[in-house]
Amino acid sequence: MKSQEIRSQFLEFFKSKSHTIVPSAPMVLKDDPTLMFVNSGMAPFKEYFLGNATPKNNRIADTQKCLRVSGKHNDLEEVGYDTYHHTLFEMLGNWSFGDYFKEEAIAWAWELLTEVFKIDKDILYVTVFEGSDDDDNLAMDTEAYDIWKKFIAEDRILKGNKKDNFWEMGEQGPCGPCSEIHVDIRSAEEKAKVDGKSLVNMDHPQVVEIWNLVFMQYNRKADGSLHTLPNKHIDTGMGFERLCMVLQNVTSNYDTDVFTPIIREIEAITNSTYGTFEKTDVAIRVIADHLRAVAFSIADGQLPSNTGAGYVIRRILRRAIRYGFTFLDTKKPFIYKLVHTLTKQMGEAFPELVQENNLISNVIKEEEASFLRTLDQGLILLDTIISESNGKTIEGSKAFELYDTFGFPIDLTALILRERGLELDEKGFEAALKEQKDRSRSATKVSTGDWIILAEDDVEEFVGYDTLETNVKITRYRKVKSKKDGELYQLVFNLTPFYPEGGGQVGDKGYLEASNGEVTYIIDTKKESNLIIHFAKNLPRNPEGDFKAIVDEKQRNRSASNHTATHLLHQALRNILGTHVTQKGSMVHSRSLRFDFSHFSKVTDEELRQVEDFVNARIQENLELEERRAIPYQQAIDEGAIALFGEKYGDAVRAIKFGKSMELCGGTHVPATGKIWHFIITSESAVASGIRRIEAITGDAAKNYFIDRSTAFAEVQKSLNNAQDPVKAVNSLQEENNVLQKQVAQLLKDKAKNIKGDLKNEISEVHGVNFLAKELDLDANGMKDLAFELGGEVDNLFLLFGSKQEGKALLTCYIDKEIVKSKNLNAGQIVRELGKHIQGGGGGQPFFATAGGKNPDGIEKALEAVKSYLN
Ligand code: ATP
Ligand code: MG
Repeated sequence: MKSQEIRSQFLEFFKSKSHTIVPSAPMVLKDDPTLMFVNSGMAPFKEYFLGNATPKNNRIADTQKCLRVSGKHNDLEEVGYDTYHHTLFEMLGNWSFGDYFKEEAIAWAWELLTEVFKIDKDILYVTVFEGSDDDDNLAMDTEAYDIWKKFIAEDRILKGNKKDNFWEMGEQGPCGPCSEIHVDIRSAEEKAKVDGKSLVNMDHPQVVEIWNLVFMQYNRKADGSLHTLPNKHIDTGMGFERLCMVLQNVTSNYDTDVFTPIIREIEAITNSTYGTFEKTDVAIRVIADHLRAVAFSIADGQLPSNTGAGYVIRRILRRAIRYGFTFLDTKKPFIYKLVHTLTKQMGEAFPELVQENNLISNVIKEEEASFLRTLDQGLILLDTIISESNGKTIEGSKAFELYDTFGFPIDLTALILRERGLELDEKGFEAALKEQKDRSRSATKVSTGDWIILAEDDVEEFVGYDTLETNVKITRYRKVKSKKDGELYQLVFNLTPFYPEGGGQVGDKGYLEASNGEVTYIIDTKKESNLIIHFAKNLPRNPEGDFKAIVDEKQRNRSASNHTATHLLHQALRNILGTHVTQKGSMVHSRSLRFDFSHFSKVTDEELRQVEDFVNARIQENLELEERRAIPYQQAIDEGAIALFGEKYGDAVRAIKFGKSMELCGGTHVPATGKIWHFIITSESAVASGIRRIEAITGDAAKNYFIDRSTAFAEVQKSLNNAQDPVKAVNSLQEENNVLQKQVAQLLKDKAKNIKGDLKNEISEVHGVNFLAKELDLDANGMKDLAFELGGEVDNLFLLFGSKQEGKALLTCYIDKEIVKSKNLNAGQIVRELGKHIQGGGGGQPFFATAGGKNPDGIEKALEAVKSYLN
């Protein structure tokens, strides 16, 4: 069965059990401070488990793109070495939010595997939680055990410990026991030798877990205590690639049709064969796997970069490049060439790959080229480090510097050292690495207290599109502490006018006013798991009282002006540059706006002018905002609304229209474009290959820009004696300046000529050499020119000039090539030795050399000392 069919059969099966099928959520998370990437199927549904939102259907199934490369789940170092862990993989899942529980979850899992997919029962094992006698003191999950007994022989039900069979989302939150389903796909002979049971959860490549059924029945509080959840949930996750392995009768995920087309392509491009050498195989698997992770993140809008999620992606790609470089001998970019095959393979299920195909391969190509350059430079630096070493070991700190500052991979350093018979001080490296990690960890550590619930009112309504001020109650709050921000309070209200950071727009600021006049400042607003969280430096004295919540109007209006301008800019770019322009990121705050978009060349000045004119024309038309708060997604798209890839949209969306610009957007906007006043582009630059960035200002900022400009202009005018036409005045000043410069140059030349004439007279013969040592008032170039000119006119010349320039000492030594030979003299060596008089050093060639030093008082001594070379 083809992988495409396996995926759709899974979804069909759960559809037949009344589940709603939803598309995969974007893999890159934008509004969850605890997680960078979706790392399990449940992550996008966190708010339902926490009870902060209610799903439309309490039964859902999907396939979810997951990435396990950072934080709690990190499989990166395994990938390539084993055959069943990936960085990016699809997790097939079915969910019950307070609906069915263990009975149905187990029965359906069994039905799907053994009846629909017809997997032989005799290769399956299941596990149940055995209980724990630690602080949690949990009983064994006999409920699950008794249900499993109905389907599978009891000697195939294994009891597992907390590590394998108790699932927790994080330090806090919903959790519960789980049952895993494992397959044993070893050959009959292998099975006869070793009992499968003993290999479950033992990292055997052919006895692997394929499905985990989590029974969420507890909530873990910040103090570590467990509490029974009022609503019990089901969360299951099955590894799609592993399921394909079983159903396609192969023993490695990489032998399924999910991977084989990519592997064939790698073989062809790198002229290698998969399945011959272990090292080559690892490299090929790493590349095939990492390609997917990187391509999917770029499609989701996360480009490789130097910080946060972007840095994780860059590191994954670099790992692939490095394996190719080291084991497949690829010295030129090639991974980008695989994007095409990947898109063909997966584009149907994930259309974002098709849409962003060009961008993905361009970005990968650029990254490859630049990292290969880094590798080249790193190799040179490593050579230097080796040549400066004691020939035995390389200090850990040196290797760390290479790794940290130049991004040169440590295992490559180790490999090269090994090849040259040198050792790496690994302990020293580890220590340096740990020190750096500790430093960054302690800087970002956040400790979060439990929510103190004041009122059960979980649907926190956002009223900030219509009003900036309203009466509110605090429904819950908690304290958070971090080194960066110190102690803060997070407050949630029953309703709020505060816009939470999102869609590129920053969160609102403002204050809460208690009935007794006490003011609590709100310094930021963010959304987390569907709650709008207001950040305050302190807690009001009586949190249970009544408050007026007031948004800082000026700041909000400025942000709104910039946000609307961003939409108009987007429209302008698509009109002027073409519809290949898509938004790749934006940042809207009260001061300015920033817009990143795909475009393959620099935007010319002329184009920028047109874009500005276009936006300003829309501003002058004073187009009114047409806002629709909840129209069906498809309808909005059909009407021409622009949606963004990598953004999570519900079924009902908010559409924002100004004239012909229509976008899906949750941000705040001006009531009519005239409010923007004016739009000015302040810069255009490159962000990555194929991605440009425009920064711009509007409203007050634009006004100030004009005021600053005209003030500066007035000042210029004043200093030009109030010239009527300052541009003309500056031009003529420049002309005048050119003439003067030429005259000065001529005068200097004449002066040198005069000096030359005088100096010629001072040359005296010493031991058959025409010799002169003298202090002059010339710069280094002047002395050089003079020396060579004299050298051309006087035979057998030996010159030493000294000069004091800007408090420093200079020496220039010229020796005729004839006497360099006949008298065995060397100007380079002479200035090096004389350099000590001026507290400096220098060098050059045998016939011409210079030295510089910080002690001009030593020039006289140097001029005196040089005579000794003539004896
Ligand atoms: P393992 O012990 O094999 O790493 P896990 O306990 O980390 O698995 P879960 O977190 O329970 O796995 O995830 C659910 C399912 O997702 C697993 O049963 C497995 O089929 C699949 N899975 C987990 N991690 C990966 C991965 N890195 N690559 C591919 N599939 C995975
Ligand atoms: Mg794991």
